[in-house]
Amino acid sequence: MYEYRAPRRELSFVLHEVLEVERVLANLGRSEVNRALIDEIIEESAKFSETVLSPLNWQGDREPPRCVDGVVTVPAAFKSAYTQYCRDGWPTMGGPAAYGGQALPSLAHVPVGELLCSAAMAWRMASGLSEGAVLALARHGSDELKNAYLPKLVSGEWASTMCLTEPQAGTDLAILKTRAEPAADGRFRVTGTKIYISWGEHDLTENIIHLVLARLPDAPAGVKGISLFLVPKRLDGQPNGVHCRSIEHKMGIHGSPTCVMQFEQATGFLIDKPGGGLACMFTMMNQARLGVGLQGLGLSERALQAATQYAFERLQGRASKGALQPDKNADPIMVHADVRRMLMTIKAQTEAQRLLVYYTYLLEDTLTLSTDAAAREGAALLATLLVPIVKAELTDAAFEHASLALQVHGGSGFIRDTGVEQYVRDARITMIYEGTNGIQALDLLGRKVLMNGGAAVQLMIQTIQHSVATDVPAVVQPWVASLAKALAEWAELTALVGGRVRQDPEELGAVAVDYLKYASCLLLGWCWIRMGSVAARHLAAGESEAPYYQAKLAAGAFYFERLWPKRLALAAGIRAGGATLPRLSAEQWSA
Ligand SMILES: Cc1cc2nc3c(=O)[nH]c(=O)nc-3n(C[C@H](O)[C@H](O)[C@H](O)COP(=O)(O)OP(=O)(O)OC[C@H]3O[C@@H](n4cnc5c(N)ncnc54)[C@H](O)[C@@H]3O)c2cc1C
Repeated sequence: MYEYRAPRRELSFVLHEVLEVERVLANLGRSEVNRALIDEIIEESAKFSETVLSPLNWQGDREPPRCVDGVVTVPAAFKSAYTQYCRDGWPTMGGPAAYGGQALPSLAHVPVGELLCSAAMAWRMASGLSEGAVLALARHGSDELKNAYLPKLVSGEWASTMCLTEPQAGTDLAILKTRAEPAADGRFRVTGTKIYISWGEHDLTENIIHLVLARLPDAPAGVKGISLFLVPKRLDGQPNGVHCRSIEHKMGIHGSPTCVMQFEQATGFLIDKPGGGLACMFTMMNQARLGVGLQGLGLSERALQAATQYAFERLQGRASKGALQPDKNADPIMVHADVRRMLMTIKAQTEAQRLLVYYTYLLEDTLTLSTDAAAREGAALLATLLVPIVKAELTDAAFEHASLALQVHGGSGFIRDTGVEQYVRDARITMIYEGTNGIQALDLLGRKVLMNGGAAVQLMIQTIQHSVATDVPAVVQPWVASLAKALAEWAELTALVGGRVRQDPEELGAVAVDYLKYASCLLLGWCWIRMGSVAARHLAAGESEAPYYQAKLAAGAFYFERLWPKRLALAAGIRAGGATLPRLSAEQWSA
């Protein structure tokens, strides 16, 4: 079982040395959120994550929440950690000031989310869902609803859920059936079954505020007929027709109760206007998709730490150039190039992904805080493009990284006691919920790229070109040259796919995943150019920590030599297109 160490140095590198958040936030009018404050937040949350939360990861996996007669009980340590989390004010960080929040910019409080996800992702999901609900309610709720619910949601005294999925309606929300009937008192009576609801019922808080998608009686068919309702578990201190029928037995995130929820004439309050449900929910889902990307990053970091530690401890075989530790009967497996290949793959991808996700949050902060309309517009365009990429790329990678970490452990990785197999099981769901990664790819290509005529891609390409145009250290220049060619190819592929989709809409689904992965590969290459440039400048200046910066350049070089070429196969797949996916008959599939 591994201890978790918060990656303080990595966060400092990305936030302060690469993104220069202190300067960025000062330009956005938040100079009081300076480097010292951000570091203090990271340090305090690191202590909480390492000492209180990390041990719960394993415990939640072994002793999952139980459901008896609709009452869900979580491990006692989950409850005490949550009480401490609220008492210390962590849930309030991003909440609106008018309702008791600290209204900190994302760049100051999102790193806390990364650490919580690494330490105990299943536990973290409870508070993460509430943060999304606060955002949706603050943006779309009436003053009456905000006054009644936001203070307790912001403080963490009450928790929240997202209730979208039904037995027959998962990806396809257009066919959801839950009904909301208007009542004489101006409220609504909500009836229906929601499945797979994370933290749908539990005893962490005395009340749970469900955000439920449902249809009004006269609503049109399809997504335009979906409205959003706030349905409390308890209303005015009384039960409100919301029941947990059961909790699922599942592959991973055992610590998070996944509930079948029954709403029986439960009193609900309409949020925003009738038919506006999906738009409201998208506020929450966008946030949640970035949050799931952060879960992926957290899991990748934890997998990297476990695999690295094991590779230095486990003695097997000898280094091919002669014994490294002749006094022992074998060398640590780190001497084997294939083990280093696995570790370097995790390191090179995870470090670039960390920059990508915080860059996206920087755009979110620009969008919220900037007084410059053009800057806000540009940030919105880029952030919208990056959300599905962050969600899919970081979660696909988390599963790959957890699996590689297990492989580094050999047979012991497959045995429960090391704890690494839990990372693999926990990582798998992140590729599915908040919209499967296939759906993220369709969203990227169909809505974010082609619907606005490729404008977002063009702006992304210009932004990248501008950032690497000057002052690039010599060691990084070959990477820049290769990126320049790839950017031209990205524009060309976008035009090619756009033209094909106009002829045949099925082309979209045929190439969307390859397109997303291609874009991810380019963006991670850009991240390595930015990180490599900073590292090279530090080394040239002869500052301390040379080994740290040399390792950065080594990981960047690994990325460009070993991982960057994957884009060529992806480009070939995109060019080949839908012709490679014929509709074989049932007989042909079973022959
Ligand atoms: C542990 C867990 C926790 C969850 N938490 C929540 C929660 O808190 N709240 C909530 O509302 N839901 C939750 N979900 C539900 C989750 O969001 C859905 O499972 C997910 O959106 C996929 O829906 P589905 O399972 O019905 O799969 P389906 O929609 O049946 O999809 C099956 C496959 O078909 C593909 N597919 C479907 N439609 C298309 C299409 N149009 N084009 C291309 N491919 C398509 C999918 O990508 C997938 O590979 C949770 C699920 C799990 C397992």
